[in-house]
Amino acid sequence: MSGSIGAQSFVYNAFPVRVVFGTGSVARLPEELDRLGAKRALILSTPGRSASAKKVAASLGARVAGFFDRAQMHTPLEVAEDARRVAKELGADACVTVGGGSTIGLGKAIALTSSLPVLAVPTTYSGSEMTPIYGLLEGGMKRTGRDARVLPKTVIYDPELLLGLPAANSAASGMNAMAHCVEALYAHDGNPITSMLAEEGIRALAKSLPEVVRNPDNLEARGDSLYGAWLAGVSLASAGMALHHKLCHTLGGSFGLPHAETHAIVLPHAARYNRDAAREAMQRTASALGVDDAPTGLYDLELRLGLKLALKDLGLKESDLDRAAKLATESPYPNPAPLGYAGIRAVLEAAFHGRRPL
Ligand code: NAD
Repeated sequence: MSGSIGAQSFVYNAFPVRVVFGTGSVARLPEELDRLGAKRALILSTPGRSASAKKVAASLGARVAGFFDRAQMHTPLEVAEDARRVAKELGADACVTVGGGSTIGLGKAIALTSSLPVLAVPTTYSGSEMTPIYGLLEGGMKRTGRDARVLPKTVIYDPELLLGLPAANSAASGMNAMAHCVEALYAHDGNPITSMLAEEGIRALAKSLPEVVRNPDNLEARGDSLYGAWLAGVSLASAGMALHHKLCHTLGGSFGLPHAETHAIVLPHAARYNRDAAREAMQRTASALGVDDAPTGLYDLELRLGLKLALKDLGLKESDLDRAAKLATESPYPNPAPLGYAGIRAVLEAAFHGRRPL
């Protein structure tokens, strides 16, 4: 959306999250937890980030009620139920998530049924910490919903915590954030504020990710990319997502593909599909990327970042494409270009082979 704002009508929802940003800001965890009035925090992480979660939580002393380190991608319902039970048994009055979207997702699953406040300390660029969106994996299908109870109350963005995220994961996670921004720019319920944030998010990510991949220890680039991820999270929260997110949910939930890597591969193809139906969004994306054409610009950025470019390299089989296209067209949703089985099948096929989206 651009041109005269005065001639437009739109709705903008602001989400009340307190953000504490900056290198070393994780030292403010105790005072931020106090601010929430919490005295018994359950600390959540994935198994791999358990030690780092313990290190972050050390400053909390007796405010730690316990640890639960079994967060998993897409939040399987049985893991969520275990975590809810542990939170109840320990008498937890808050959840602190130390990790990426999987850990935040587990905190949200607990909050959904208990209303416990979530304090998120993100260690990837997923953007989930800024959204009231939750996901649960049940019977091989990913169910998502929106609920104000799951929106974290406080987010501490400390670029230092990203230093351990390997270059390849950083690149994929950064493109996951980029996807939130691109789809927000052409969302059916977009608005000038969200578009402004989304465009700035694309700019920050496009500038910083190549440097993060070149030198994962560059704190300034980590800070810039985390800022981009924050804006991406706000974009995801404030505008409805379309074809790209639908395809990625299908591929992650029903075919077990890794979340961020799948987002990275699908994005240039979803952008290509919508390019002519969402010209202004594509121009803004291209301008923020510093290129002439958004879909090929996204693809070329991913080439530079050394990302995998083909779904077949993530383990998808060619024989899965028909079912994936069918699942992704089962229920209607808004998208700039009209959606149909053949078109979606073609997008999936191009992403399967990793073709340049000309
Ligand atoms: P993730 O949280 O699963 O993390 C990926 C891997 O990286 C994990 O093994 C984790 O332990 C490790 N890791 C995390 N931070 C690290 C660090 N700093 N250093 C080293 N290793 C680190 O991956 P993700 O992509 O952040 O999150 C994916 C999940 O988030 C999916 O389930 C997705 O659906 C969800 N998500 C939800 C939203 C939302 O708004 N609800 C938005 C984006 C993603």
